[in-house]
Amino acid sequence: MDYKNDIGYRRETLKKLLYNIQKSEDLIVKALYDDFKKPEFEAVLTETNYVISELKDTIKNINKWAKRKRVFPSLLNFPSTDYIFKEPYGNVLVIAPWNYPFQLALCPLISAVAAGNRVVLKPSELTPHTSAIIAKIIEKTFHVNHVEVIEGGVEVSNKLLAQRWDYIFFTGSVSVGKIVAKAAAENLTPITLELGGKNPCVIDETANLKLAAKRIVWGKFINAGQTCIAPDYILIQKNMKVNFITFLIEEIIKAYGKKMDKSPDFARIINTKNWLRLASMIEPEKVIFGGETDANELYISPTLIEEPALESPVMNEEIFGPILPILTYETQTDIDTIINRYEKPLAFYIFSENKSFAKKLIKTYSFGGGCINDTVIHFSNKRLPFGGVGHSGMGAYHGQLSFDVFSHHKAIVKKGNWLDLPMRYAPYKGKLSSIKKVLDWM
Ligand code: NAD
Repeated sequence: MDYKNDIGYRRETLKKLLYNIQKSEDLIVKALYDDFKKPEFEAVLTETNYVISELKDTIKNINKWAKRKRVFPSLLNFPSTDYIFKEPYGNVLVIAPWNYPFQLALCPLISAVAAGNRVVLKPSELTPHTSAIIAKIIEKTFHVNHVEVIEGGVEVSNKLLAQRWDYIFFTGSVSVGKIVAKAAAENLTPITLELGGKNPCVIDETANLKLAAKRIVWGKFINAGQTCIAPDYILIQKNMKVNFITFLIEEIIKAYGKKMDKSPDFARIINTKNWLRLASMIEPEKVIFGGETDANELYISPTLIEEPALESPVMNEEIFGPILPILTYETQTDIDTIINRYEKPLAFYIFSENKSFAKKLIKTYSFGGGCINDTVIHFSNKRLPFGGVGHSGMGAYHGQLSFDVFSHHKAIVKKGNWLDLPMRYAPYKGKLSSIKKVLDWM
């Protein structure tokens, strides 16, 4: 079991993982339903299928990604061959959240294994069914000294963080991200932090409102709004608001029916603590659609809130649930005032046919990633880096970048011995003007 040096071994274990996941797909989907009634369609699209596709891609490309990468040598060192050697970090800790509990645990794990690391995964305690099946699959697939799942909550997490790691990959909230960063600093351990934030969705007067409403409803209410890159609030040009709200309501009813609590396509809130947090954000006098709640069922209907005060709870923190505030703007200053109230978001969405407006927003505001005329889908392209900036995170992954995240990139210059130019060696007397000429020329 030489996972550090034997790429063939890593590939074989990943193939075994693929087989075990495919064999257990129904059980995984059931576990996700048992945890918070995640609809089967969403479970397959955003969890099992996503992981299977990531695995296939990694298995296919592992040799290419692991290969040392030749770079153009510096003429200063002539003659030499220069390359980057990808070295596994060593012991990697992955801490995962509950909202996409299968995907966000398995994807970093797959890349960490592909890059040749030993991995310890701590899945979320809030999705016990999914965590249990992850633990079973991993136990069946890997030697315990190679990959291990340690289940548990905050205490277990803290015990793990107190140990020394060579890399920590954390996905979760900003507040816990800070705890992870502090623990990592103790040993100068490199980290990736995949966090959250308040993701704006700006709509101008040129937008295709009906299509915008449809795409926003999908991105906002998938997983009952418990998505780190879900639009958090709408910021729409004032004159467009009334029409847009009509379209939004139409699209919500089209997607989930009039009896939304009976829809098989709408998930539940993860636990009572989050349900209470979300329910307290709903100010009845501001609700223009939805607002229905059921504590026993952990249900909150898709809810639209019109023009909440910026100081109200719904505008004070990341919503992370099926509540969508709609704010308006008239000038660029209005947009600035609202967006600049918050830390740099993980995602940013613009609905507009005006190219220069979209370009300007992308240039003006710092954020992790986003879309023009859609929501959420930037996540699905493995060729795009996924990650936040500032408070929404540190580092990015997906596709080959994930492999690179879990590898130290060693710079190597292999110097030729057949020539040894004397210019750089002391004594330097009389050499300065020639070296200046060479440096100028380069
Ligand atoms: P969380 O931070 O509460 O928990 C994440 C993990 O950290 C869990 O495994 C948990 O056991 C552990 N943990 C919790 N409290 C801890 C503590 N005090 N000390 C040490 N470990 C602790 O996050 P969550 O509620 O599971 O997930 C929701 C948050 O995650 C949202 O803010 C969301 O935006 C963010 N998120 C980000 C991404 C992303 O890719 N950027 C993806 C999903 C979720």
